[in-house]
Amino acid sequence: MKIQIIQGDITQISCDAIVNAANNSLLGGGGVDGAIHRKAGPELLAECRLLHGCATGDAKVTKAYHLPARYVIHTVGPVYRDGQHDEAKRLQSCYIRCLEKAEEYQCQHIAFPSISTGAYRYPVSQAATIAIETLKNYPCQYVKRIDIVCFDNYTYRTYCQLLKKE
Ligand code: ADP
Repeated sequence: MKIQIIQGDITQISCDAIVNAANNSLLGGGGVDGAIHRKAGPELLAECRLLHGCATGDAKVTKAYHLPARYVIHTVGPVYRDGQHDEAKRLQSCYIRCLEKAEEYQCQHIAFPSISTGAYRYPVSQAATIAIETLKNYPCQYVKRIDIVCFDNYTYRTYCQLLKKE
């Protein structure tokens, strides 16, 4: 399994499954969630309404509609408070649950955004360490390629540095 860091817009990535950094309602929001819903179209929101939300640290799957992917894996990262509220465990759980779903749906190529580091304020280097460690150590069978798609240059450089250190 190969992990690659990319700078760009995750809604442009052609792959089997795109991960959405959603919120508990799964009814859309700002940031990457807003971008994914805009590109996928209103059918995505209609399917999300049937899911009745998602717990923090869990993941749920929908079709991807007008996105160049087969599925969207919606996960809900923790809001970062002070690091003393199980934030690390919950963020790690997002990556694990997404990989479990990707395996269940037999995805070979998946793309993650930097979960929780936008509106949810998780410090980027801490979040990147958890993301890379968790993805690297997961025993994948179907998943052969993981792209971590960073929107801004600071996030991109932070993930690149940490992946190189491994
Ligand atoms: P969260 O609420 O989990 O923090 P956000 O969407 O606010 O989610 O931010 C998570 C990360 O996704 C941030 O680094 C943000 O810059 C980035 N992001 C925003 N739009 C996109 C996009 N179209 N593609 C990839 N990443 C994006």
